Amino acid sequence: MKKHFSTIIFLFAFITFFSSCEKKSAENYFENMNTFMKVKCYGKKAEEAVSAAQNYIKELEETISVTKENSDIYRLNHAQEFPVQVSQKVSNLIKYSISMAEKTEGAFNPCLYPITSAWGFTKKENKILSDKEVKELLPLTNYKNVKIEGNAISMKNGMMIDLGAVGKGFAGDEAIKVLKSFGIKSAILDLGGNIQTIGSKPDGKNWSIGIKNPFDQGTIAFVEVSDMAVITSGGYERFFIGSDGKKYIHIFDGKTGKPVENEIVSSTIIGKIGTECDALSTSLFVMGVEKSINFWKNENNFDFILITDDLKIYVSEGIFGNFSFNNSIPDAQVVEIICVKKD
Ligand code: ADP
Ligand code: MG
Repeated sequence: MKKHFSTIIFLFAFITFFSSCEKKSAENYFENMNTFMKVKCYGKKAEEAVSAAQNYIKELEETISVTKENSDIYRLNHAQEFPVQVSQKVSNLIKYSISMAEKTEGAFNPCLYPITSAWGFTKKENKILSDKEVKELLPLTNYKNVKIEGNAISMKNGMMIDLGAVGKGFAGDEAIKVLKSFGIKSAILDLGGNIQTIGSKPDGKNWSIGIKNPFDQGTIAFVEVSDMAVITSGGYERFFIGSDGKKYIHIFDGKTGKPVENEIVSSTIIGKIGTECDALSTSLFVMGVEKSINFWKNENNFDFILITDDLKIYVSEGIFGNFSFNNSIPDAQVVEIICVKKD
């Protein structure tokens, strides 16, 4: 009887031990950086990890927001040429953004805020600027006039920095560090349509990421990834229709000072680092297809999916094998899928 009893105890301990090793999961939805976010992760400390990541993103927004009056960026934008001491993190992100501006020859430009805000983006009171108004504001968008000395940043009076095109990607990279500090090895983050992943799904398979259909509701295609960021810039979500009936989107061409008008309707970048993918998704959107392809040919660290208004999808060769068109989409919505090669 005694032996029987100790066997039962042993079995009970055995089952308890193994069920505690089983992957727990946790998921949080929240609103931040003017968008909806979702973090899902798997691991023993999943719950603590998602809460810590959410808190981290909230704190980060307080330092990089262009509209919150206590943020480093707001203080810098209202300092009238005086140097402003910002945190190491913000200083690094500004340095990175300026380097991307140089690399993309201004397609990416973190200094467009004097123009984008005059067009009413962020205030939601949109206005079409005249050519004269644009011409007056353009000199305030020259990123070469940002001076960085350690963590002290200064710029010409009237200049303003906006990290809107890298902020969510950076938030993703930092949130991933937080999740990893809790031992998380499998997670998916959706920060307003920016998807970032840690490892693969708990069953070891790739994550299947949907690319939004820019012409309609739903998903136009899927891309399978592990441990990657899949980040999209599109002209279909934040725009206004002017009194002239034309569509004006929130991504700007720094050369013209006007919303981008080219053939691209959606640009997705797939790569290891969210900050970089975010900056590049905006950059390629501004460059248009031909320049984007030439730019990519000289780079080794990212892949792209570009969708154009003549219903073509350009997919770079590195990701082509992991790309699939959503067959439930009516054929009329896409006429051609093109695999873009380096040579
Ligand atoms: P979203 O934030 O909608 O995902 P993006 O990452 O492309 O899209 O960022 C767009 C935001 O970046 C705009 O709302 C604006 O604040 C800013 N922005 C607009 N045009 C540019 C540009 N050419 N370079 C850098 N930032 C830009
Ligand atoms: Mg971006």
